[in-house]
Amino acid sequence: MQYRILGKTGLKVSVIGFGGIPIQRVDADQAVEIVNRALDLGINFFDTARAYTDSEFKLGKALRARRQEAFIATKSMARTKEEMAADIRTSLDTLGVDYIDLYQLHNVKEKETLERVLAPGGALEALEEAREKGLIKHIGITGHIKDVLKVAMQTGRVETVQLPFNAVETDGVEEILDLAEANNIGTIIMKPLAGGALTNAGVALKFILSHPVTTVIPGMDSAEQVVANAAVGDSDFVLNGEEKSLLEEEVARLGSTFCRRCEYCQPCPEGINIPAVFLFEGYYDRYNLADWAKDRYRNLPVKADACVQCGACEEKCPYNLPIREMLARAGAKLA
Ligand code: SF4
Ligand code: SF4
Repeated sequence: MQYRILGKTGLKVSVIGFGGIPIQRVDADQAVEIVNRALDLGINFFDTARAYTDSEFKLGKALRARRQEAFIATKSMARTKEEMAADIRTSLDTLGVDYIDLYQLHNVKEKETLERVLAPGGALEALEEAREKGLIKHIGITGHIKDVLKVAMQTGRVETVQLPFNAVETDGVEEILDLAEANNIGTIIMKPLAGGALTNAGVALKFILSHPVTTVIPGMDSAEQVVANAAVGDSDFVLNGEEKSLLEEEVARLGSTFCRRCEYCQPCPEGINIPAVFLFEGYYDRYNLADWAKDRYRNLPVKADACVQCGACEEKCPYNLPIREMLARAGAKLA
């Protein structure tokens, strides 16, 4: 496994980190096994969030036994000082540790929200106080909107930035990486497989690591995935001709109007599981699994046709997807 320095935090992190969303799907014992496997293979950076249901608990259960081998990053959507201070305490308790290596402002999407967290009484103040007390070691920010991240990076108050980057989502990334380099800010790459749309994980991860990023955090919920992803951390990060063509084919096939399954559009007031509908549509279109996809769709308690066109989901989607139109198309196909 290769390691890079996470900007001004000085932490020497594995180039392949561990994304903590999918671990929600397995039980706690399996999670411990998977995390231990990752540690054994040299993965030392683990990212979770208050918002990922029991992910903090499961990661903490495994990591607190090997605390010196791991850097733990978590994050909170809290926007005020009071709420953030409470969330830091909850994270420490849930993880079962006495300090957290990196605490991030989670998904700051709008300039107004950023102003709110930066202002006196905002969430950043709680993070800075917690850092002074040693409860957290470093502060970062995560988000999808590059212009907002850039403003945050220029304040000098965040040490890391976490953003999506993959072969189909490259807009504005170069600028962020340049700014990060100029300000010695660590870069953590989420959504490396574009929410599962990119199917060749090895090539997708290699593509990202051929850029000057610090670490990439694919989500993992099996030992097989851990082994395969960790192996990429040992490679030279140079795509050969065949790998380049493979990636180009996938990019051409996907276009840009597709769901990355970030779940920011949820909850739909009518109860539609929007990313699930698009996931099943992907199985229908891309994997030759039409019957299986239709079957899964049939089992959804609320179908796409329950949409009342309120538009709330589209306001929240960081990719500005025409969700209503896409749902109608997917629903017709899967019905
Ligand atoms: S537009 Fe439809 S899918 Fe979107 S939040 Fe409203 S009801 Fe739900
Ligand atoms: S529709 Fe948009 S917000 Fe919802 S999961 Fe997909 S990409 Fe994310």
